Amino acid sequence: MGGTPIPVAVIGGGQAGLSVSYHLRQRGIDHVVVEANRVGHEWRERRWDSFCLVTPNWQCKLPGFPYRGDDPDGFMVRDEIIQYLQDYVAFFRPPLVEGVSVTGLRRAADGHFEVVTTEGEFTAEQVVVATGPYHAPSIPRMAERLPSHVEQIHSSRYRNADQLPEGGVLVVGTGQSGCQIAEDLHLAGRQVHLAVGSAPRVARFYRGRDCVAWLDDMGHYAKNIDEFDDASAVRMRVNHYVTGRDGGRDIDLRAFARDGMRLYGRLTGIDGAGLGFADDLKVNLDRADAVAEGIKDAIDAHITAQAIEAPVEPRYVPVWEPSGHVPELDLAEAGVTSVVWATGFTRDHRWIEIPVFDGRGYPMHWRGATSTPGLYFLGLPWQYSWGSGRFEAVGRDAEFLADHIDTSRRLADVCGALTGAPASVASALPLG
Ligand SMILES: Cc1cc2nc3c(=O)[nH]c(=O)nc-3n(C[C@H](O)[C@H](O)[C@H](O)COP(=O)(O)OP(=O)(O)OC[C@H]3O[C@@H](n4cnc5c(N)ncnc54)[C@H](O)[C@@H]3O)c2cc1C
Repeated sequence: MGGTPIPVAVIGGGQAGLSVSYHLRQRGIDHVVVEANRVGHEWRERRWDSFCLVTPNWQCKLPGFPYRGDDPDGFMVRDEIIQYLQDYVAFFRPPLVEGVSVTGLRRAADGHFEVVTTEGEFTAEQVVVATGPYHAPSIPRMAERLPSHVEQIHSSRYRNADQLPEGGVLVVGTGQSGCQIAEDLHLAGRQVHLAVGSAPRVARFYRGRDCVAWLDDMGHYAKNIDEFDDASAVRMRVNHYVTGRDGGRDIDLRAFARDGMRLYGRLTGIDGAGLGFADDLKVNLDRADAVAEGIKDAIDAHITAQAIEAPVEPRYVPVWEPSGHVPELDLAEAGVTSVVWATGFTRDHRWIEIPVFDGRGYPMHWRGATSTPGLYFLGLPWQYSWGSGRFEAVGRDAEFLADHIDTSRRLADVCGALTGAPASVASALPLG
């Protein structure tokens, strides 16, 4: 601690941290990017072997370094995503320090930030927290009630079917991870039992194009959070399930069921080897389909309004219906030997000792700028738009923050010149 403060500390060297680093470099602002692991860590360590992007490659728009491969409509697989990030580092050589974790962040009396790391402490005039949207695996406490011989892992630790003991697998949750892992296990020949939640789905292709391409044309991804009445509900929305695997296709849970997967409603309780499910499978499947068909309605309306020539495509017809409510599953009877919890993540910003969080621990901000001058967040889901927590728009948010930081530093310089305060003191004035 002490010494000359670093102008800007960026915490986290994922796509968000690298993006803001690029824009800070463009503006000539000195900074350091502190990364706890290695660039690409999240993709390398917390994704399964067959993982690929759900979003098409053309949406990978890292600042100054958009996807330039030969498959813009394809979906990068895990190792290609890691390579894309490594190539980005080689492209602009950010001031990156890897293998150093930030364990504490406080605001000092002079307005600067005290950054505590596993390698010591330093001060910074401004800080961008870019530690990702998904911190700690979220597993419901009822998991403790599973018999000890049933192996259980969180989706972030799932790699492939071979890692699990022989036998049936229960996958809990049907967000993007749960659906894709269930499919992966199903394709590997496992008997999969799937507890279906309320996540919506979207078709991969419709009327000759990827639905993402249509939605892009329709301005869907340009919409910002201020256009919604309930921003916090939008930010908590579950992603639509669909896959980029093998060039991209729908995920149709009904088709899985038709082909032998066992579907249940939401998991409600565990009593030893006995599991209980809500009577909501039919409604969850119907709603997911209704969302997918509603998106097609919107695409149809756009095609008509714009007089676009596009092939006509028949609508989805359900290929399977639940025959009735299945309230229970006996794991032993069904031969289930493992459980994959695809139940999401929680945020963990407890190391930030600055009061900028709401009751749920979500940082209060506008486009990443908080009420504490000089403290910013980047990469939060729906920070500003759909693409904020994704490759699509993290660069746009990074540019906004870099501009904001640049402006505040210029103002601080002016104030410093007017008041005679040293620039390092003036930069901590509440202008950020
Ligand atoms: C299963 C899954 C599928 C996804 N699929 C897509 C997709 O298809 N398309 C898409 O665009 N997006 C997708 N995303 C969303 C998003 O692109 C990723 O979550 C991405 O990793 C977010 O990048 P980030 O830089 O914000 O955070 P991260 O990639 O999480 O990077 C944060 C970095 O900060 C480091 N860090 C954390 N804490 C500290 C600390 N205290 N000190 C120092 N360093 C720290 C971490 O080591 C990490 O490297 C997906 C996410 C998940 C979970």
